[in-house]
Amino acid sequence: MPRMRVVQVKNANGPFELVEREIPSPAAGQVLIKVQACGVCHSDAFIKSGAFPGITFPRVPGHEVVGVIDKVGDRVANWKAGQRVGVGWYGGHCGHCPSCRRGDFITCRNGQIPGVTYDGGYADYMLAPFEALAAIPDELKAAEAAPLLCAGITTYNSLRNSGIRAGDLVAVLGVGGLGHLGVQFAAKMGCRTAAIARGADKGPLARKLGAHYYFDSTTQDVAAELSKLGGAKIILSTVTNSKAMSAVLGGLAIDGKMIVVGASADPIEVSPFLLIGGRRAIQGWPSGTATDSEDTMAFSALSNIRPMIETMPLERAAEAYEKMMSGAARFRMVITTGQ
Ligand SMILES: [Zn+2]
Ligand SMILES: [Zn+2]
Repeated sequence: MPRMRVVQVKNANGPFELVEREIPSPAAGQVLIKVQACGVCHSDAFIKSGAFPGITFPRVPGHEVVGVIDKVGDRVANWKAGQRVGVGWYGGHCGHCPSCRRGDFITCRNGQIPGVTYDGGYADYMLAPFEALAAIPDELKAAEAAPLLCAGITTYNSLRNSGIRAGDLVAVLGVGGLGHLGVQFAAKMGCRTAAIARGADKGPLARKLGAHYYFDSTTQDVAAELSKLGGAKIILSTVTNSKAMSAVLGGLAIDGKMIVVGASADPIEVSPFLLIGGRRAIQGWPSGTATDSEDTMAFSALSNIRPMIETMPLERAAEAYEKMMSGAARFRMVITTGQ
């Protein structure tokens, strides 16, 4: 049997290890993807630490996967070998839970996630159910498309469903893997865009990405600055520090909403007065389905939005992960297989 390389986590908090496995065959309803690129997401930490509920080991992480269909299993219509495809956080749904029966597949009670419920894209090949596949537009290279499948879709899809209108003030908290895409999306959607990060050094870059304002949360009272501009209709929170989220809530406009997409288990502190008096809200947003991924990539191609990436070969996945976790990535680490 032909073999492939995968980078797996053997047990909770164990190291990444590069091992060889047999290349699997697609079952009915699945395709085998020859992986070209896979983004390294902060949520991969929930796999490595074993913190994700119900996770089993060994597990191959990776849920920003781009490649080419190598083999197609039975009962897969409309997808062919040779087609460029991607798989993001949404990795399949059950079809029979209450959410699925309402057509709301991303909140499926039994939803599948590549790299969590089945092996993901830190590998030369991976299996995926056909409903998780997003077609990749010709304009996007594999390594550029990969971060759009989690970091990109999450910021794009939450913003476009937030009720914002052209000209509204949108603040993006955090200029990292998600935030540097959120700033571009907000600006290209026609919003007055404010970027917020720690330190002054990210200011020039945030402006280059389309931000009209930049606030340094280490030296400025960001809530006061946003209020001076009339308050933010949307604060898109891409950081994983709940205290940083609490600190900017005072910058929301009347009817303003904070959308939380940076995953953390720490509680957010908010004054009920702030919420009640100005009808303000805090909402979460879970990426989107495969068609939302296709919309994200189409909008990115149309508006010339690209993630800023640093690539490393598959065998250096551990190093790529460490660089992401340390906050030193500018701005998304992407693992490539050379295929
Ligand atoms: Zn992710
Ligand atoms: Zn379901």
